[in-house]
Amino acid sequence: RGKRAFIAGVADDNGYGWAIAKSLAAAGAEILIGTWVPALNIFESSLRRGKFDESRKLPDGSLMEITKVYPLDAVFDSLDDVPEDVKTNKRYAGSSNWTVQEVAESVKQDFGSIDILVHSLANGPEVTKPLLETSRKGYLAAISASSYSFVSLLKHFLPIMNPGGASISLTYIASERIIPGYGGGMSSAKASLESDTRVLAFEAGRKHKIRVNTISAGPLGSRAAKAIGFIDMMINYSLANAPLQKELHAGKLIINGTEEVGNAAAFLVSPLASAITGAVVYVDNGLNAMGVGV
Ligand code: NAD
Repeated sequence: RGKRAFIAGVADDNGYGWAIAKSLAAAGAEILIGTWVPALNIFESSLRRGKFDESRKLPDGSLMEITKVYPLDAVFDSLDDVPEDVKTNKRYAGSSNWTVQEVAESVKQDFGSIDILVHSLANGPEVTKPLLETSRKGYLAAISASSYSFVSLLKHFLPIMNPGGASISLTYIASERIIPGYGGGMSSAKASLESDTRVLAFEAGRKHKIRVNTISAGPLGSRAAKAIGFIDMMINYSLANAPLQKELHAGKLIINGTEEVGNAAAFLVSPLASAITGAVVYVDNGLNAMGVGV
């Protein structure tokens, strides 16, 4: 049978999660998606109304099928962690079973197992603030949503992942170089995510023969990136300075050869990459290798 993938962090057709879903679907995988609870209604109704049909198109002309969409809030591990105001919040009260543990249980009930786990989510409430102006609360929220969310997802999905399977997350070079504007502790969160990639590769590899890698992606004008405010500048900077002068796309439309992050993810979770684990793989047109701007 084909592989089954759970992709956390898709709420529209503009981001890297969507691109990865498409590349995995094109390679024959069954697609399950975890969508942030507050974004669930609009995502599901847009899917139903055919708003994404054009961008669901795969290279063979068929449309990507999403077998099931699960509501997910990856900052909560189990129901005990959910504060009362969230429980009673209108957008949350309409769905159920969206903590990480409950989603893993639901997937187990529905499908038994998965082969591929994708983490394509991040959130930093104070991302527009410099680190020196970031509150403790904002910093910890960035780490919780953007790094611990991966630890938690892997921890809860590992028992239902078939040996030989793999996970992948998305990181950004602000973890290791100074990128003014990527604030609120988001640079710290990406540094944690990369360090955890190594430690988790060891633990999940030894325990369950599961590989753990992360893709350090170049700039993309996704919804999350637009919220940071400097994404157009970063795209232009990359176009001007990277060894390869082209934009990265998220597979919204098929433009051959441009769905590079999705394709790299499909490679990394496939048997072709069976000896690659604990790695930070740059899919950024080579920008990371530059020492100065040109
Ligand atoms: P995106 O908006 O498509 O994806 C982010 C997703 O995270 C959204 O769907 C959002 O609903 C979801 N999310 C936020 N908080 C959540 C929570 N608590 N629980 C569940 N889901 C939650 O944007 P994107 O830029 O494609 O981001 C995907 C990943 O790629 C992120 O890790 C991001 O940091 C990384 N990345 C992005 C860029 C870029 O330039 N866009 C560059 C490098 C890395």
